[in-house]
Amino acid sequence: MNSSLEEKVQISSFNEEEFIEAIIAELTLKEKSDMIHGGGLFRSNGVKRLNIPPIVTSDGPMGVRKEHMNARWRYNGFWRDYSTYLPSNTALAATWNTELAYAAGHVLGTEARGRGKDMILAPGINIQRAPLCGRNFEYMSEDPKLIEEMVVPFIEGVQTDTDVSACVKHFAANSQETDRMQVNTIISERALREIYFPGFKAALKKAGSKAVMGAYNKLDGEHCSQSKKLLDGVLRDEWGYDGLIVSDWGAVHDTKEAAESALDLEMDVTYDFDNYFLANPLIKAVEEGSTDEKHLDKKVRNILRFMLRTKMIGPQAHIRSAGTYNIPEHRETVLDTAREAVVLLKNEENILPLSKENYRGKRLLVIGQNAARLHSNGGGSSEIKALYEISPLMGICMELGGNTTVKYVKGYHIPKRIEDEDMSYLESLVDTKEEEAAYEAMSEERKKEKESEETSKAKQSLYFDEALALAAVADEVIYVGGLDHFHDVEGWDRKDMKLPYEQDKLIEALLEIRPDMPVIIMAGSPVEMPWIDKAKSLIWYSYAGNEGGRAVSDVLFGNVNPSGRLPFTMPVKLEDSPAMKLGEFGKEGMVKHNEGIYVGYRYFDTYGVEPLFPFGHGLSYTSFEYDEDIEVEVYEEVGIELSDRILADNEPVSPFEAAVTVRLRNTGTVAGSEVIQLYVSDLECSVDRPVHELKAFKKVYLEPGEEAEVELYLTKEAFGFYDEKEKCFKAEAGEFEIQVGASSRDLRAGAVIELMKGYKYSR
Ligand code: BGC
Repeated sequence: MNSSLEEKVQISSFNEEEFIEAIIAELTLKEKSDMIHGGGLFRSNGVKRLNIPPIVTSDGPMGVRKEHMNARWRYNGFWRDYSTYLPSNTALAATWNTELAYAAGHVLGTEARGRGKDMILAPGINIQRAPLCGRNFEYMSEDPKLIEEMVVPFIEGVQTDTDVSACVKHFAANSQETDRMQVNTIISERALREIYFPGFKAALKKAGSKAVMGAYNKLDGEHCSQSKKLLDGVLRDEWGYDGLIVSDWGAVHDTKEAAESALDLEMDVTYDFDNYFLANPLIKAVEEGSTDEKHLDKKVRNILRFMLRTKMIGPQAHIRSAGTYNIPEHRETVLDTAREAVVLLKNEENILPLSKENYRGKRLLVIGQNAARLHSNGGGSSEIKALYEISPLMGICMELGGNTTVKYVKGYHIPKRIEDEDMSYLESLVDTKEEEAAYEAMSEERKKEKESEETSKAKQSLYFDEALALAAVADEVIYVGGLDHFHDVEGWDRKDMKLPYEQDKLIEALLEIRPDMPVIIMAGSPVEMPWIDKAKSLIWYSYAGNEGGRAVSDVLFGNVNPSGRLPFTMPVKLEDSPAMKLGEFGKEGMVKHNEGIYVGYRYFDTYGVEPLFPFGHGLSYTSFEYDEDIEVEVYEEVGIELSDRILADNEPVSPFEAAVTVRLRNTGTVAGSEVIQLYVSDLECSVDRPVHELKAFKKVYLEPGEEAEVELYLTKEAFGFYDEKEKCFKAEAGEFEIQVGASSRDLRAGAVIELMKGYKYSR
C-alpha cells in the first residue's frame, strides 16, 4: 500500500473496515470499475497507483490449469506450469473419506499459491441430476449430504495456511451443459432448498469459502451471475455471506442489473476488457446517473476484504504463504485418494483380486483404449498439464514387472475428432478479422482431414477382430474401457448413456470367449451395461489423477482392498433416470425440473425403480457384519426448545440431536474399510417425502476379525423438509426410522424413534 495510506491507517491498530474505507475514498470511478471486471482472461485489474494488485485466478478443480496468455486463448507454452493432477470431484466423492477431501483440497490450495494464484476456481459441486451432463465428472454427487460432507473439508484444505481462496461453483443449478449460457431453469423452491442449495450453503457458511462463482444458466428467468434473488436474496441477506462473488466467464448480460446485484467481479472470455458490462458501460451509466457509484463501492469493498483475507494486501502481506507445487507429498496424497476412489461394483466367485503369482511367465492381453490413453489434458476448463499420468496399462506393467509378457490392443476405434463441437468451441473464441480468417482456413484444412465413415468402420472392425482373435489365445485378458473427455466434457451433454465406440458389442463378444475377464470402466458419468450379467467382475473409477492407473492396478491385484462407493445411482437405462422420466433434461431455452426433490436414489428408492447399481454401492475383498440393533440416543430438549420459532442462522445449537451407535465387524480375512451409511425416513408426514435420505456416514477401517462400535451424529437438519408456505425447514413430530447399511439398497439395521415435538429452522 502506498505510504500516505499507511499513514492514514496505523498498522499497529489495524482496523479492516477503516483500511478499506480509506482506500475507497482514494479511488477514482475508473479505478473502481477496473477492479470489478476482468483485465485479462484469468485476472482482474489492479490499481498500480495505490499498489493494489489484480486478483489472479486459475481453474480448477483437478489441479492448477496451464498458463494462458493474458489476452488470447492461447497457452503460454511455459515449461514450468506442469502440475499435480488431482482426482476429479466425482472420484473424490467416491472415496466417502472426509480426511482425503481435506488432503486433496490442501494440495490444490498449496499448488494454486505455488503457481502465484489468489483464487482457484474450484470445487464444482452442482448436483449430478442426470447421467448425461457433460460436467458430471467435475461435480461430486447426486446427493446434497455427501456433497456437504466432502466439500467442507475440501475447501478448508484449500484455504488453510495457503492464503489462497477457493471459489465454489456454479451457483446455482447448473446441471446441464446444453444451452448453458441461456437456458432458463425452473425448479421448485423446495427442491432448491433441499437438493441444490445445501452444498453451497455449507461451502460458504461452514467452510468459509472466500469466493463463489455464479452460474451461466438462468434460474426462474434471471441470469444466475447477476441475479438479485440468488446473490442478494439468498447469499447476502439470508446466509449473511460477505465473501467475493465472481461471475462465470461471460455470464453477465446487463450493466445495470449486474451493477445493482451483489456480484463483485465480472469475468468473461473475450479480450475487449474495457467493454465488459462493468467496465466503460458502467462508468457511462454512473456518469449519466442511471445507476449509482455506491454499487461500485460495495463491490470494491468486498474485493478489498478478499485481498486482506488472502493476504494480498494489508499488514500481513509480508507473511503471505508462498505455496509450492509438484512435490512428492502431493503425489502421495493423490495416490491415497485415487486408491480409495476405485469402486468394485461386482465380484462374482471372488474373481478379484488377481494373484500376481499366477501371471508369472504368462501372456496377458490388455484390451481397450482407456488402458493406455491419458485424460488429464481434456475436459474443458478443468484440463491439466499433468506432471505425469500413469495409465492403467502402465500401472499393470509396473505391478507385474518383467516376468509377464503384456500385450495391449486398442479393441475399438476412436474416430479422428474434427466434429462440429470442437470447431464451434474455437469459433466462440474468435474475435478479430485475422483470427476469423485463420479459423476459416483451419476449418477447411480440418474438413480435408475428416476421416471417412468407411475408414472408421474398417478400423473399428479391424480392431474388433484383432482383439477377439488375440483374446482367444492369450493366457489372461483384462478389459479397460469407458468414456473419455470427448464425452465427459464441458460445453456438451452426452446424447445417450451408452458406451461409445461400440464397446458394448466388443465387451459382450469378449465375455463370450473369456467369461472370467475382469472389466474395468473409467468414466465420469453413469453408462448402460447391457453385458453386465455376463461379467463376473467390474471395477469402476473416474478420472483419478496422476496415479489413477496405479490405483486401479493396486485394486486389481489386491495391494489395496477397494473401499470406494458410488456417489450416484447407476440406472439400468437412460429412461429410468428421474430427469428423463419425470422432468426434462438437455433442452434448449427452458428446462423444467419436474422431478423436484426426487433426484437420484430419492427417486429410484421411493418409486421402486431397480437401478443397475444403487447409490452408495461398492464391494470389498472382505465382508462386514452389522449388529441388528443400533442404539439411538435422542437429545429431546433440543426439539422442545426449537418448537416455537425459527432458529436463526447464527444461533448456537447443540451440535447434534441424536447419536446413533452402530456395531460391526470385519468377518473376512483381510483388512478393509466399510462406509456406514445412515438413512432417515419420516414415517408420518404432512408432505410427500422420499422413502429415505442419507443424513450421515462414516468410513471405518477394520482389521480382519476386528469389531467396532461407531457413533454417527444426526443434526437437527436430519429430520426436516422445506415448507414452501412457511418458507423455512420444518421437522414434524412423529416417528422416524433410522437405518444403517452399505448402500441405499442394502440397509442392515435400524430403529424407530419418536420426535415428541416438531421444530422449524432456516438452514
Ligand atoms: C467454466 C468455469 C471456469 C471458467 C474459467 C467457464 O467456462 O464454466 O467453470 O472456471 O470458464 O475457465
